[in-house]
Amino acid sequence: MYKLMKLPYSYGALKPDISEKTVYIHYNKHHKKYNDNLNKLVENDIYPVELIPSNIDKFPLDKRGKILYNAGGVLNHNLYWNSMSEKGAKPKEKLLKKVNDMYDNYENFKRIFINKAKMLTGSGYTFLVTNNGDLTIMNLPNQETPLSYGLTPLFTIDLWEHAYYLDYQNNKDLYIENFFKKADFTYASQIYESLS
Ligand code: MN
Repeated sequence: MYKLMKLPYSYGALKPDISEKTVYIHYNKHHKKYNDNLNKLVENDIYPVELIPSNIDKFPLDKRGKILYNAGGVLNHNLYWNSMSEKGAKPKEKLLKKVNDMYDNYENFKRIFINKAKMLTGSGYTFLVTNNGDLTIMNLPNQETPLSYGLTPLFTIDLWEHAYYLDYQNNKDLYIENFFKKADFTYASQIYESLS
C-alpha cells in the first residue's frame, strides 16, 4: 500500500496566501485521490512511487497510462507541499550558488519562474528541475513528472484551478505571486546537495 505523505505543516500554515480550506481540500480530496487510485491500480508496492515513472514498462500495458498519471499526481503534490512553509526559505548553499550562477540572483530567478508559471495554459505545474547539476525551469501539463524525462524535480507550484480557485477565483497571476511569499527551498536545497 502506498501511504499518503504527511502534510509538513498545519492546514492553516499558509494563510493568508493559501487558505486553510484550500489546503484541507487540496490535500484530503485531490492529493489523497491520486494515492487511492494508485493503490487500486498497483497490486504491490515493490516500486517506491518515485521509481514508478522510470519503470513504467514493468507494469501491464493497458494500465500504464493510468498508473503513470496517478503516480505523477502523488509525486507532484508531495513536491508541492514540500515547496512551501509558514515562513518560506530561500535556496541554500550549493543550490543558492547555482541559482546565482545561472540567474544572477534569487530575485531574478523568482521573476523568471513567475513568468514561466504565468505562461502555462490549462492544468499543470511549473518545476525547477536539475540535470547533471544545471537548473531548468519548465512547465509540464496535467500530472506529468520531470522524472519521466530523466530530470530531477526540486521545487514546484501546482497550477491546477483547485490549487487557487477558492482563494483567488480566476486571478491565477496573483496566486502565483503570493505563492512565493510561502515558497520554501529547504527541501530543494537538500535534494540538490544530495545529488552533487
Ligand atoms: Mn493539485
